[in-house]
Amino acid sequence: MTFRSIEGDERLAPCGAAEPRILNILAEAIEIMTKARIVVAPGDGIGPEITRSVLQVLEAAEVPIEYETIEVGESVYLKGQTSGVPDEAWELFRATNCLLKGPITTPQGKGFKSVNVTIRKTLNLFANIRPTKAYSPFVASSHPGMNLTIIRENEEDLYAGIEHRQTQEVTQVLKLITRPGCENIVRYAFEYAKAYGRRKVTCMTKDNIMKLTDGLFHQVFDEIALEYPEIESDHQIIDIGAARLAAQPEIFDVIVTLNLYGDILSDIASQIAGSVGLAGSANIGNNMAMFEAVHGSAPDIAGRDVANPSGLLTAATQMLVHLGLGSYGETIKNAWLRTLEDGIHTADIYREGLSKQEVGTKAFTEAIIQRLGQTPVQLEPVAYMDRPIKVTRREASTQDQVLTGTDVFLAWDENERDPDALGEQLGALAGDDFNLVVITNRGVKVYPEGMSETFCTDHWRCRFMAKQSSCDYSAVLSLMGRINEAGLQIIKTENLYDFDGAAGYSLAQGQ
Ligand code: NAD
Repeated sequence: MTFRSIEGDERLAPCGAAEPRILNILAEAIEIMTKARIVVAPGDGIGPEITRSVLQVLEAAEVPIEYETIEVGESVYLKGQTSGVPDEAWELFRATNCLLKGPITTPQGKGFKSVNVTIRKTLNLFANIRPTKAYSPFVASSHPGMNLTIIRENEEDLYAGIEHRQTQEVTQVLKLITRPGCENIVRYAFEYAKAYGRRKVTCMTKDNIMKLTDGLFHQVFDEIALEYPEIESDHQIIDIGAARLAAQPEIFDVIVTLNLYGDILSDIASQIAGSVGLAGSANIGNNMAMFEAVHGSAPDIAGRDVANPSGLLTAATQMLVHLGLGSYGETIKNAWLRTLEDGIHTADIYREGLSKQEVGTKAFTEAIIQRLGQTPVQLEPVAYMDRPIKVTRREASTQDQVLTGTDVFLAWDENERDPDALGEQLGALAGDDFNLVVITNRGVKVYPEGMSETFCTDHWRCRFMAKQSSCDYSAVLSLMGRINEAGLQIIKTENLYDFDGAAGYSLAQGQ
């Protein structure tokens, strides 16, 4: 299972006769050529322990793969590579198209960016597939019937990580949602449902509040659902959807959702199924794929031989199916199911009276290896088929885009933050081209006719609409020049466009 050059292969026995020796070399060469090649990144925290466990199981099952190990994450960052991914790793990803990755520590609130997100986005791994199932009665779960898959958009949303501090008091993050991104993931969800005989796809968004961004996701979902009449579809607002998932997960089949919601939902789902340590995840793109556990690096239990390797092992079986090695995936998954069924459990799933033996990572791994070739008796054995999923996007038509105004964002802390004072000053600067129509503070209207109760921070959005049906960007620049010369501090502007006559921006709250 390691990369070897034929010349340097110590397993080639010296041979007197030329012919058998050549045959031997040829056989080795064919074996090497037919083996799937992957990259393995053990990661941080419990990553190295659970990766070792998974590789031992793959080796014992004689899976025909070769791998090269790379370092990514905290250790790389500490060596001064701020991306957390060494340059040579990208070449290896390209050469193999497949990465098995342990969890990676990402500092909270400061420090380096998430390596996971960087890898997913750089390699265009747009779909994150997270199947979650209860293994009741062997693993305690209050939802024995749950068996669902969360398909999470993997590249967009708040995970663009574009953040700015704009004023003394205000920070901002950009939530970017694209039509191609929505189409890719929604189509993937329906194709997945078709390939795996799932009956229903549920979309979850918060489009009652984020009408344009989450609204686009919902709209694309409705459009694409029409192309799959054989599959039931519905939409739920994320808050009630998440509550139902926690209370009645068995009513869901496939859930497709945006990046952040999918991240949260999949932890809820795996935890209520039995443990966050059980679920695996596949990150799939058109060319490349990465497989990892749903959980993180669990620094609280790292190095103590207590981590459950099941999440990464489940991800590895997803990887084997992806590589066309589903029969090996079946053998491993069935041995794992049998181990659970035999009551041999790591601490996170061990329950007095239900489990038979509490074991550490190493002993759990050994137990799985001993059961290779066995199938579970009560739990349903897995049988993987080759079910390739192809996503083809439609060409979107281009809409007529007309500039109709601008939102000018100011940092302003004068006149006891009186919106009327700001409104009067800006109204006089609007000039011949624009009307000042509204000023908002944290999105809520404060001018004209704001409410005295509304709290105002030092961050103001001032909306100027063109007096004509459209305007030129040079008029926006002139307006900004006047505002700047008046000594007001512009922190950014957003152009206001109509697309085929429909406003491409939201109204102010209270407008
Ligand atoms: P976590 O998933 O690492 O841990 C949450 C809890 O679950 C902890 O109590 C932990 O001990 C337990 N747990 C997790 N995996 C387990 C396993 N295999 N066996 C037994 N118990 C397990 O979440 P966290 O503590 O919020 O995050 C820790 C670090 O992991 C953070 O730096 C975070 O950014 C990172 N993280 C990485 C990934 C990834 O690499 N894909 C995903 C999530 C979090």
